[in-house]
Amino acid sequence: MARIGDLLAAKRTVSFEFFPPKTPNATMALGKAVGELEALNPDFVSITYGAGGSDRHRTGGVVSWMRADTDLEPMAHLTCLGHTRTEVASLLVDYRRNGVENILALGGDAPADGTPAKSDYTYALDLIHDVATTDCFSIGVAAHPEVHPRSASRESDRRHLAEKMRMADFAMTQFFFDVEHYVRLVDEMAALGIDKPIVPGIMPVTNVKQVARMAELSGTAVPTWLTDRLEGCSDPQHVRKLGVEAATQLCQDLLDAGAPGLHLYTLNRAATAKEIVVNLDLVVA
Ligand SMILES: Cc1cc2nc3c(=O)[nH]c(=O)nc-3n(C[C@H](O)[C@H](O)[C@H](O)COP(=O)(O)OP(=O)(O)OC[C@H]3O[C@@H](n4cnc5c(N)ncnc54)[C@H](O)[C@@H]3O)c2cc1C
Repeated sequence: MARIGDLLAAKRTVSFEFFPPKTPNATMALGKAVGELEALNPDFVSITYGAGGSDRHRTGGVVSWMRADTDLEPMAHLTCLGHTRTEVASLLVDYRRNGVENILALGGDAPADGTPAKSDYTYALDLIHDVATTDCFSIGVAAHPEVHPRSASRESDRRHLAEKMRMADFAMTQFFFDVEHYVRLVDEMAALGIDKPIVPGIMPVTNVKQVARMAELSGTAVPTWLTDRLEGCSDPQHVRKLGVEAATQLCQDLLDAGAPGLHLYTLNRAATAKEIVVNLDLVVA
């Protein structure tokens, strides 16, 4: 068992993100991906949480399964939107009982289907406070290199992130495609007196439409150098190859810029993440 804050203090980490499956086939796909990526000895993995708490049992199930039946160090994403304080307290007790030591404490977004997501919380900071009060978890928070879409200004985005980071052990970023966004974020946080680790999240483009949709939701710009490269590319294998090349280059740029770790979004498939880690010679025997 390991706390991610301690891991980051000791070494540069490699980690993977998964999402909780909804169908038996998706469960099989996740099991296969986890098995293949576990062989690369990642420092930790994270499991996302459904908007408005819709995946609360699924996320808990995957995290507890990983804790019990794999050698992986899991981090549970947890959003405050859609939760009462009592529900959060009960989830945290369950995680603690199952030996889970890492929580990514998030604001969350309202479900896309318009279901109202009532909550005792307004911002992630309130949730971070409740998780920190238990004194049982290493806490990560979300950072948005290109500024969160709901932020009133860049300055307020950074100020609120600094408040979160003062209570947390590390931040993990939204995905982005140009290293400059990350470097600028780290500099801005340093100017606010924050030198805790900021782990970049990397989304390899394997499906142009899917990534364009996710980028729009998160306020991430897909740069023209990338769209130009992918434009007119109808062969999915070719798209994947270009996506792996671009993500490998971004990871290398991030390591050169001093990133404390790399967190790769897998979309529950092993091949792409594996190829990037091997390209970068980051496999730990
Ligand atoms: C690494 C990562 C993982 C994620 N995983 C998930 C997931 O598993 N499930 C999921 O549903 N979503 C996930 N998200 C998305 C996230 O929930 C959304 O981006 C959400 O809209 C914001 O989350 P936050 O934690 O940054 O929220 P907050 O920190 O609450 O910030 C939200 C907005 O409010 C502003 N703000 C904060 N405090 C104040 C204040 N006191 N006054 C005024 N404004 C304020 C911030 O500047 C920002 O604009 C993830 C995001 C990242 C970066």
